[in-house]
Amino acid sequence: MALRGSPWQTPVESATLADNSLRWMARRAEFPHAMAILDIVTYPDPRLREATFDVKEVDDNIRELVRDLRDTMYSLNAAGIAAIQVGRLERIFLIDGKVAGGDDDSPPLVFINPEVVETGKGTVVGEEGCLSFPNVFVDVKRPRYAKVRAMNLEGQMFEAEGDELFGRALQHEHDHLTGKLMIDLVGMVKKEVIKRKMKRYHNEQKREAAS
Ligand SMILES: [Zn+2]
Repeated sequence: MALRGSPWQTPVESATLADNSLRWMARRAEFPHAMAILDIVTYPDPRLREATFDVKEVDDNIRELVRDLRDTMYSLNAAGIAAIQVGRLERIFLIDGKVAGGDDDSPPLVFINPEVVETGKGTVVGEEGCLSFPNVFVDVKRPRYAKVRAMNLEGQMFEAEGDELFGRALQHEHDHLTGKLMIDLVGMVKKEVIKRKMKRYHNEQKREAAS
């Protein structure tokens, strides 16, 4: 899930970006390995709708993928990221540590083979962004609360639950692993607006690449 004020946003809101850059640089110093920022698959790329599969074993391959997802998420100041958004079909997503209820220095929560075990406490409308929809922010109605069961990088099962932004991020990221996107959760009119914005985005990307 994307947050307003991320480097994807143009024009950049300078105060927010400065804060985010500092935060990112501070975090970057904690991870001395070579950063790998992966390309994000953007709507309407059909890869976002592909079937995902369970991780059988947390091996070096998975650990590297999680590290790259984390680097990519931080570099884009996202609240969360799913593996399918970088073209990988393993059932994995990450949520920023602060969004998950920690402080600025909390590491991201890693969810491997996650299942939503409960949602509720009524529904709430909130704004969502998504790395696969750069510069698009849209109101989405969802259950206020969600509980997810998953495996961590150590291969242990854990449960995470949250309201508001965390609850929303859990549902948004889990949706990615079932091929569902935020555009699927809005009405006809908003769908068309999003499609138009994404068409414009891809045209701009093509023009930039050509110049
Ligand atoms: Zn998303």
